[in-house]
This record gives sequence, C-alpha cells and structure tokens, in this order.
Amino acid sequence: MADTTHGALAPTYHPLPVTIARAHGTHVWDTDGNEFLDFLSGYSALNFGHLHQGLVAAAMTQLRQVTLTSRAFDHDRLEEFAQRLVEVVGPLTTGGEDSLVVPMNTGAEAVETAIKAVRKWGYDVRGVPADQATIVVAGGNFHGRTTTLVGLSDDPVARDGFGPFAPGFVRVPFGDLAAVADAVDDTTVAVLMEPVQGEAGVVVPPDDFWPGLRALTAEKNIALVADEIQSGLGRTGTTLACELWDVQPDLVCLGKALGGGIVPVSAVVGKPEILGVLTPGTHGSTFGGNPLACAVGVAALDLLSTGQYQARAAASGRVLKERLDALVDQGLLTGARCVGLWAGIDVDPSLGTGRELCEALLERGVLAKDTHDATIRLSPPLSIVQPELEMALDILEESLVALRDGGPDGGSGEGSDDDGSDGEAHAEEPVQDAEEPAAQDGDERVQDAEEPVQDAEKPAAAERQKDEGPAEPEEPATADAAVETTPSTDTADIPDEKPAPPRKRRRSRLSPAAG
Ligand SMILES: *Cc1c(COP(=O)(O)O)cnc(C)c1O
Repeated sequence: MADTTHGALAPTYHPLPVTIARAHGTHVWDTDGNEFLDFLSGYSALNFGHLHQGLVAAAMTQLRQVTLTSRAFDHDRLEEFAQRLVEVVGPLTTGGEDSLVVPMNTGAEAVETAIKAVRKWGYDVRGVPADQATIVVAGGNFHGRTTTLVGLSDDPVARDGFGPFAPGFVRVPFGDLAAVADAVDDTTVAVLMEPVQGEAGVVVPPDDFWPGLRALTAEKNIALVADEIQSGLGRTGTTLACELWDVQPDLVCLGKALGGGIVPVSAVVGKPEILGVLTPGTHGSTFGGNPLACAVGVAALDLLSTGQYQARAAASGRVLKERLDALVDQGLLTGARCVGLWAGIDVDPSLGTGRELCEALLERGVLAKDTHDATIRLSPPLSIVQPELEMALDILEESLVALRDGGPDGGSGEGSDDDGSDGEAHAEEPVQDAEEPAAQDGDERVQDAEEPVQDAEKPAAAERQKDEGPAEPEEPATADAAVETTPSTDTADIPDEKPAPPRKRRRSRLSPAAG
C-alpha cells in the first residue's frame, strides 16, 4: 500500500505512506483495514470528526433538494446561512448583529475577499489615493496558495519561483507590536494576521499583541482582519481564537471546519461599513454560498452554537498540555505550544526529523503531519474522548522513545507495553460509548439520512471483503454497522472522561501499513 502509484498527480504533496479508505469520528482505516487515530483532522477542517451524523444528514437532505443555483438566483438556504453566521460569529466582530457575510468556498478565497474589501474600503471610505493601499501582514504567516497570498509568505518553499508578487503588503515579525506600529502610515488599510499561526507550528503571540493591535488599528481607523480559517470554530476552546484576548476584529475569515469536513465552505464576516463596499459585479464566486455548502455550514454552526465543542476542546486541551509538558520535561521534546486542543511540538533534531516522528506515529496508529522540519502539529477532532487522547499520547511517547533508542524503525520494542490481550476485538468500544447517546437525538433526520449512506457504502464494503476476505472483527463489519456508529458527538452528548479501556494497538498489525 505504501507504494501506491500516484503517476498522474503533479508532485505537490509528499504524503505519509498510508492510503485511507474509510473514516468515522476520530478514526480512519486504510485499504488494508489498519486503524488509525486522526491527529491532523484535515488541518482542522474535521473539527467535528469524520462523517458527523448531523452534518452528513444535513448534506443528504440538501442533496435531494437543490445543490447549485449560482448567485444569479437566490435559493432558500442562502440567507439562512448568512443569518446563522451573523448570530454565531457576528457578535465576536465589531460588526455585531449588523455584520455582513461574503460566502466563498476555500480559505484562500476568503482571504482574497477580505483583501479586496479592505482595499476598496480604503479608497472609497478612507480616501487613500488610488492603488496606494497597503496591508500589514506577519512573518511566518500562512494565508493560502494563490499568487497574491504566497507573495505574503516568507516561506521560501511556498513562495520561490512564483513571482512577481502583488505589491501593497508590508511584512513585520509576528507578535511584535512595535514593528506593526512602525509599519503603519496613511496608506495602511488593514492589518491581516492569524491570531495563532497554525502552519507555522501553532505559534501563539504574546498576550498583549492582539489587544495592542486592536487599540492601534482602532485609533488609526485601520481594519483589523483575523484569518481564523484554522484557529477558529472551536479549536482553541473558544469559537474564535480572538476571544482568548477579548478582541473583536473588524473582519474574520472562516473556512476549513465551516464545511464540516464534507464540502469546502468559507466566508468573510464582519463590519458592514467594510463589506458593504462590495457591490454587484465587484466580487463573486460561481460556487460560493451554494445550497449544499449553506446546508452543511448551517449544520456546522448549529453544532458550534451550543458551546459544547468549544468546552470539549478546552477540557481535552488541558490533558494534551499536561502530557506534552511532561514530554518536554523528560527531554523527549524541545518545545510544546498548546492552545485549546491544538499543539505544535518540536522534536529534538538529535532524535530525528518531524517526518521521522510522523512515520513512527503512523506505524503505531496515529496520523499526524510535520509542518516544518522539526515541528509537528497535533489537532485531533474536538470530539475526541479521553481514552483516545490518552492512547495517542502514549503512542507519541513510545514513538519518541523509539526514535531516541534506535532511530525511526529501530528499538520499536515489539509488544513493549502491550498486555497481549486482544484489545483489537474491542476496538470500537470507546467510540460506541462515546456516541451512543447521540443516536437518541434527531432520529428523524438521521434516519432520513442513513439510507443513501448505506447505499453508497455497501458496494465498497462488499468489494473490500471480496478482495481481502472477511472483514476484520475490529472494523465495523458492515456498512450498516458503520452507519449505526456514525453518530459522532451530537453536541450535548460529547461525553466526559469515559472509563472505557483504551484498546491496545498491536504493532504487528499496523506495521504493514507503514511498509
Ligand atoms: C488552510 C488555511 C488557509 C487556506 O485555506 P484553503 O481552503 O486551503 O484555501 C488560509 N489561512 C489559514 C490560516 C489556513 O490555515
């Protein structure tokens, strides 16, 4: 499996050697039936876990109604989506309940939209001379992959070879308020930054940085734009990361988790004086705000509106931080930066590279991805339950010890702390425990949604069984079982510490996947 050919793909990625075939909650399975805990979660696009029942139901229902109209015509989910965004996110911006929404698809498009809006606002409202507007951005940023956005980056890998770049941006060190103050002048229309830099390795600025940015930009009538595409929507234990410092940005860019891990959905939300400058014909998107995207987006916002996911992220995040700090104390990590259920960890280069640690984790059943050489980002679904989190952190510790004692493959201590009991047979238990209560909820919608899911999955499951013999007992044996256990965390039901014993992972079973 490791050597699956990708002959037709341009080599834009260097994925870890695993081929995923199925997923559910915090778990994914590869084409050989090996099971993994997902500690990347699609870079936080899967904050609610894989195939969340309510989100799948919302998508399925909408798939039978209408999926695409283009904005040439209104549809009956569009205003609902915008209203819901304003309810959940508007009050966290200076736009408050009067906030406006520009629906887009990808994160990069949301950031581009914000850039267009603040520039036009600068010219139309602030009176900045034509084509003179500047925007202050941060070193180490990641805002997306368009030619304008890679031009903001100082990462040579992202940027080199793609110029010439758009003018009008000034880059200052992240977290350096004095540098921002020095960089702004009469042409400055916005400061655009991530509250916490995700791609840079979960870099948290000093506590006075965002409040300082807010004060400075308010005083000078400069728009404060927060790129919350990765940091937002529950990850930090709050709906927006900016809430950590009680800061209301003027505009917020959302994406990733807004699409519930199902479809790309992004948006810019905020101050009507700014977004209102985008009049008919000045901006748009064929797919932005399509009915399917809106239906999923509304369902994702419903999940966030109860606060359960945020609370869960904060609680699990405390466990994460405690365990990672201990690994730093043991000298297995050189650094660990945690905020909510989100961490950037630095591997001591003498132990190995970030890639090598990711490979060691993969071999033991945890999926994570290095960002820069020695740094790995941990961002499991917010719905993760304590036994899963503890197990993944045990595996992290074991992997680091293995790297220290013998390189990525050496010293892997076959069966080290495995008690030899057949934990595999119970692999699903923690998940079922976690999710059972959710099945009581919203029965009608859920049943409605299940049929097509089963239809869609049956052939695949049957094929797998044909190819590989009987399904392994630890997998949801049939598509039906997969659907029944799909009720991933319908909010109020996210359990607290469950006594369910973490299942023991057998390296022997997992290692073929790492081949
Ligand atoms: C992922 C990301 C983007 C880009 O989102 P895409 O959907 O990949 O275009 C922009 N900003 C931040 C902070 C991100 O993490």
